[in-house]
Amino acid sequence: MAEMLPLENRRHRAGKTLSLIIPMHNETPVLDALFSRIDNAVSPLGLDLEIICVDDGSRDDTLANLERRALADPRVRILSLSRNFGKEAALTAGLDAAAGDMVVPLDADLQDPPELIGEFLTLWEQGYEVVYGVRADRSSDTTGKRLSANAFYTVFNFLSDRPIPASTGDFRLMDRVVVEALKQLPERNRFMKGLFAWVGFRQVGVPYARPERAAGETSWRYHKLWRFALDGVTAFSTMPLRVWTGIGLFAAGLALVYALFIIARVLLIGRDIPGYASLMVVLLFGTAAQLIALGVLGEYVGRMYEEVKARPIYMIQKKIGFPPATDGR
Ligand code: UDP
Ligand code: MG
Repeated sequence: MAEMLPLENRRHRAGKTLSLIIPMHNETPVLDALFSRIDNAVSPLGLDLEIICVDDGSRDDTLANLERRALADPRVRILSLSRNFGKEAALTAGLDAAAGDMVVPLDADLQDPPELIGEFLTLWEQGYEVVYGVRADRSSDTTGKRLSANAFYTVFNFLSDRPIPASTGDFRLMDRVVVEALKQLPERNRFMKGLFAWVGFRQVGVPYARPERAAGETSWRYHKLWRFALDGVTAFSTMPLRVWTGIGLFAAGLALVYALFIIARVLLIGRDIPGYASLMVVLLFGTAAQLIALGVLGEYVGRMYEEVKARPIYMIQKKIGFPPATDGR
C-alpha cells in the first residue's frame, strides 16, 4: 500500500516526543486495560511519551482515576473540560495542548489498538506526514452501524470535493506540521475526519481489524450519528444548497410545458372543470419540495450562526501534569 518515498524524506525517531490524545467520556471501566496496553505497546518504541487524557465532562470516576495516575506517572497529562463538549471538541483541546513532534489520537475503549503505533511510526520515518488506520474488518460493528457508515461515506464523497478515505477514523499518526495546519482551521464545527483529509500532506493508510470496545459502553446514539453526518456533509459541501436551483428549473420547465398544454386544450376543446387530482399533486409535491429546500437552508444557516458567534470550541476547567512551558495557552 505504501509506496517508497525518496530517501531524503527520511526522519528518525531518536529524541522525538509522541503525544497520545485520548478523549474520555465515562471510561472508568477501560482505564486499567488502556494504560497497561499503552505501556506494553508504546513505551518500547524509544520515544518520549506524553499521554494527554481529555476528560470530556465524564459523570463517573474517570477524572479522579486519572488524577491518581497523574500523581504516579509524569507522562500522564489531564485536560478536564468544564462539561461534555463531544469527542471532536475534546480532540481539538488535546491537539491544542499537545507538545509532541508527532501526535496520535486514540479512543479510550481500545478500539484503536495501541500496538499499531509502531507500524505508524515506521511509515512516518519513511517520510509520511500522516499515517492513518483503515478498518479492514468491521465485523465488531453492528450491521446497522456498518450500513449507515457505508452510506455516509458514499454520500459524503459524492458531495464533497475533498474525499475522505472510507473506513478511517480519527486513529492516525500526524507529524507536527499537520497538527499546526489543523490548528489554523478556525471553524467551530469540528468534523475531524474531514479536516484531517482537507489539510493534505503525504498520507498513507494501514489496514487493521477493529476490535470491539474493551469495556464500558459507547456514548454514541443514532440521533447523534445523524447530526454528526449532517455536520460532516454541510462542512464540506454546498451541493445540497445549490441542487435546488436545478430542481427548481426542472420543475419550472415541466410546469411551463403543462401550462402550454392546458392553454392549448382550453382553446381547442373548451373549458375543462375536473382537475382536482392534478392540482393536488402539483400543490403537495411543490410545497413538500419547498419545505425540504427551506430545511436544507436552515441546516446551513444554523451552522453559520454557530460560526458567527465564534464561541470557543471547548472550555478547560483544570489542567494537570503539563510542564509550565507548554502551559501558555
Ligand atoms: N467520547 C468523548 N466525548 C463524547 C463521546 C465520546 O470524549 O461525548 C470519547 C469516548 O470516551 C471514546 C471515544 O470518544 O474514547 C469514542 O467513543 P465511543 O467508543 O463511545 O464511540 P464508538 O467507538 O462507539 O463510535
Ligand atoms: Mg468505541
